[in-house]
Amino acid sequence: MRLVFLGPPGSGKGTQAKILAGKKGLKHISTGDVLREAIKNGTELGRKAKQFMDAGELVPDDIILGMIKEILQKNKDGFIFDGFPRTAAQAEALDKLMAGLSITLDAAVNLAVNDAEVLNRLTGRFFCSKCGADFNINTRPPRESGICDKCGGELKQRDDDKTEVIANRLRVYREKTKPVEDYYRSRNVLKNVDGARSFDEVTASIIGILG
Ligand code: AMP
Repeated sequence: MRLVFLGPPGSGKGTQAKILAGKKGLKHISTGDVLREAIKNGTELGRKAKQFMDAGELVPDDIILGMIKEILQKNKDGFIFDGFPRTAAQAEALDKLMAGLSITLDAAVNLAVNDAEVLNRLTGRFFCSKCGADFNINTRPPRESGICDKCGGELKQRDDDKTEVIANRLRVYREKTKPVEDYYRSRNVLKNVDGARSFDEVTASIIGILG
């Protein structure tokens, strides 16, 4: 199965994509994770992307598409893209790359969550600096404040989850990423899911829709 997950920052698409990828044996590819790893490793890609990410802006399409090509080739048998495509131009480019590999997209799963809930989730989001586990002090708090339940590591906030950057990320989402929904709707592959429910309910409805 080949899927893309759409939805505003904080819609839970990363968490759901991870769960579904595990259940269906698909490769979970988060472009945000790939970029953060590149920054951590000090690569050229990371150096180019950092200024945009820190400001809550999108990394330019040519940089993103340059990195996607190789990733797609390696994982063409089954994948979930999470956080990609984020512009209509990226969606068109993905279609062309897939056509070149003689593969097609099965669905674009769109997690709908309203602005107030998005804000509540993003401002509460923390991750373990040691094992990467996700927590949310508003919706899924750890047992002990600031400490990972799984490995005892220190919990940290993403730089772009700070309140001043969040507002810009939501604006960028509305302007540039919302049109991607129309793109997939017109191709009859858009599947809307109400993302403002419990994680288990959302997972169950995604599985129900995809079969
Ligand atoms: P995410 O982890 O998906 O929220 O992505 C974090 C940041 O990485 C975004 O705010 C963008 O700056 C950048 N980014 C991730 N994926 C893309 C993409 N497909 N196109 C442009 N920028 C991206």
